[in-house]
Amino acid sequence: MLIIDDDLADRYIYRHNLVKDKMFEWSIEEATTGTEGFAKSRSVEVDCILLDYNLPDDNGLNILSTIKSTNPYTPVVLITGQGNEDIAVESMRLDAQDYLGKDRVTSPALHRAIHNAMINMEFRREIDEQQTELENFGRIMAHDMREPARSIRYLMDRILIDGEAQLSNDLMRYVGMARDTSGRMLSLIDSLSSYTELEKESPEYKILEFSQIIEAAKENIGSVIAERDVRVIYDELPPVCGDETQLVQLVQNLLVNSIKYCDEETPVIFISAQRKGDEWMFNFTDNGIGIKEQHLKKVFEPFKRLDITPEFEGSGLGLATCKKIIERHKGSIWCESTVGLGSTFCFTLPHKEQS
Ligand code: ADP
Repeated sequence: MLIIDDDLADRYIYRHNLVKDKMFEWSIEEATTGTEGFAKSRSVEVDCILLDYNLPDDNGLNILSTIKSTNPYTPVVLITGQGNEDIAVESMRLDAQDYLGKDRVTSPALHRAIHNAMINMEFRREIDEQQTELENFGRIMAHDMREPARSIRYLMDRILIDGEAQLSNDLMRYVGMARDTSGRMLSLIDSLSSYTELEKESPEYKILEFSQIIEAAKENIGSVIAERDVRVIYDELPPVCGDETQLVQLVQNLLVNSIKYCDEETPVIFISAQRKGDEWMFNFTDNGIGIKEQHLKKVFEPFKRLDITPEFEGSGLGLATCKKIIERHKGSIWCESTVGLGSTFCFTLPHKEQS
């Protein structure tokens, strides 16, 4: 345990309370400044840190973010002065596992905060490890499966061209079906690939005209737009700061969904933006089938597809990819919808001056 606090009396109280901990026999290190504390957090193996907010050389929040930038899995409990809720909230945002007011440091409260912090961190580490494993698995799968799937599609194409004279109509129909299936498999592999690749590639931020992003996305799906006579309507839109490839992918996924999940003759998508403080909030409103209230959050989870008829093909990764892209741009994404009337997908992106 590392205690970072310049007040001798406070350090004595924490030590005294930690000795009473029945679950752990703590070996305790102490530091009296943020700099010394950070150095010790790197040189000594630390299971948990008790960090005072008021330190002589810096405030506890700055020390907290320095510690977390190098030891993200070290549990930290911040000790704040009386009634300072703003600091407490900020400390949670900076990934402190808990906070305690100085006036509330009793043995049980301290033990509870430390034990919970350690358990939470252990869970987090396990989840992150599993997530990384899953992403590696997905990446390898996507990479290794693309070639065989392409070969199958190519061979089916050859049979359809060369075998026409020799094969019966039924056999030609089956080969056609197998060809379509391999095409679907390839598009699933592509979705999986773009989802897993996002983790690997670091975004290249630049100032982009949002209308150009929309036009690029429309061009990529030109045939679908023409086939369904889709109308994408927008007025003047602001520039944003972001990664061009990722933002085109985001818009493309949203447009594809609005078209796919629309049973009207003409899919219509309105795009607008409003300034919200330091960010722009974009709205994509469609006239599609809509999404039930209880599914509005679930649709952003990977591989979550709603209980819909088989004619709507997909991988369940389109919106998960959108969410990942927006999170990588430090924004948020959500959906509002009325079944039968349509959905509005909203997301935030940094205002260009923020870059
Ligand atoms: P996919 O379309 O490949 O199934 P997505 O992650 O893009 O996967 O979407 C998840 C689910 O959310 C879809 O299966 C669909 O049920 C629902 N959905 C997404 N976009 C819309 C939309 N614009 N209107 C209605 N439902 C939608």
